[in-house]
Amino acid sequence: MTEEPRYGSWGGLQEGRSRRELRLAWRDDRLPEEALSDSSCLCHGNGRSYGDSCLNDGATLMSTRGMDRVIDFDPATGAFECEPGLLIKELLEITVPHGWFSPVVPGTQFVTIGGAVANDIHGKNHHLAGSFGSHVLSFELLRSDGSRLTCSESENPELFRGTIGGLGLTGLITRIRFRLKHVPGAHIEQEKHVFRNLSQFFEMTEELENRFEHTVAWIDCLSKGRSLGRGIMMCGNHASGSSLKAPRAGLLRSVPLTPPFTLVNAPMIRAFNEVYFQKNALSAGSSLIHHRPFFFPLDGVENWNRIYGRRGFHQYQCVIPHGAAEDAIGDMLKRIRRSRAGSFLAVLKRMGSQKPAGILSFSRPGVTLALDFSNHGAPTLELLEDLDRITRSSGGVVYCAKDARMSPESFQSYYPQWRELERLRDPAFNSSFWRRVTKDLS
Ligand SMILES: Cc1cc2nc3c(=O)[nH]c(=O)nc-3n(C[C@H](O)[C@H](O)[C@H](O)COP(=O)(O)OP(=O)(O)OC[C@H]3O[C@@H](n4cnc5c(N)ncnc54)[C@H](O)[C@@H]3O)c2cc1C
Repeated sequence: MTEEPRYGSWGGLQEGRSRRELRLAWRDDRLPEEALSDSSCLCHGNGRSYGDSCLNDGATLMSTRGMDRVIDFDPATGAFECEPGLLIKELLEITVPHGWFSPVVPGTQFVTIGGAVANDIHGKNHHLAGSFGSHVLSFELLRSDGSRLTCSESENPELFRGTIGGLGLTGLITRIRFRLKHVPGAHIEQEKHVFRNLSQFFEMTEELENRFEHTVAWIDCLSKGRSLGRGIMMCGNHASGSSLKAPRAGLLRSVPLTPPFTLVNAPMIRAFNEVYFQKNALSAGSSLIHHRPFFFPLDGVENWNRIYGRRGFHQYQCVIPHGAAEDAIGDMLKRIRRSRAGSFLAVLKRMGSQKPAGILSFSRPGVTLALDFSNHGAPTLELLEDLDRITRSSGGVVYCAKDARMSPESFQSYYPQWRELERLRDPAFNSSFWRRVTKDLS
């Protein structure tokens, strides 16, 4: 265990204000004395959460990246067990050659398995597979009283459900056992479909979900009038195709430094969206591609978050129940257009009907929308508050892993079950996010 400074989060909004930063490694089987003597401690996976749920202002952060051993992998059954700091990228490098894939992957391969559990992440296959937590068989939880608890649906089931999606607040997960998904190869048979407006997205999405294991849509958030919500639906099924080479690792392009101001503005987004829409509309149809560009297109440019400059950026991700989704998302797009803020990344996905796997899980039946906004201070916060009003009035929720600013009142109305998690929280664990959203609520 060594001291190491400055662990941040992806949005770059609140960096490096923890008082002590510790690095856990293999065989660290007790919580460090320094962590327990501080006002609180929290695990930090790989900092791919956007806001403050992986930060602990004024107290201790413990990086789990060094806890990255594979404990067991059975290529006959696809059962996999590892320490929490293993990255999805590292997992796939080991298992794909044997015909096994992570049951759920997010939009980046640089998240740890511990982070995947603590935020109960979802992916392009949510309509069939649910969230990551639904594939967890068991894990070990180390609590600050020194107890080591095996948690599964039958052993310590409350802590099992509390820790999945529990934002790292129930203790340190030291090992995780989960089920992989069998695949015929490393490739994806991809189909792209154009939709000319939001209604067309809603018309085509169900039919495509019946044919494809993975679906997600990019939308042009600055489109207007009869084109409001136009976009491209990307669909895919796992396929063999050994003739295709994986894009070479180590050739990643990178944003080398953080400029003082954001490089992202509305005219640039408008131009990008036009070119992106037209280019994809022209290339609509099917093709065979490697799984990496299909699942993780953003990973092609290392540190792309730096383009938002020193003030960082917010991601807003909500899920709106099915009946209200089309109207609510239409209203949000109009509000965003009026703000002239715009977002390169605007992702739309219909989620499946599975019940959330954890007490505080985000993913649930409905349609999820995710958008990135440069941080311009008050006007950005006002826009996000307005989006919150639409989400609240349509019975939706905002994703805690992406949030850096929702009010305690919004959080409490989205997640009235938060008190259950508070009861299961390890008294030595806390986060900047949890203090912020539970402040003044009793
Ligand atoms: C480009 C990009 C695309 C994304 N796409 C998606 C997506 O499609 N779907 C989705 O759901 N999310 C998505 N995310 C969000 C990301 O998947 C989650 O925030 C994920 O939890 C980050 O994992 P991490 O390893 O970086 O953990 P961190 O962000 O460092 O931490 C996340 C949480 O895990 C806890 N934690 C980590 N390790 C442990 C442990 N050993 N024990 C207990 N708690 C622990 C931390 O305390 C914290 O609460 C995306 C993020 C990015 C940057």
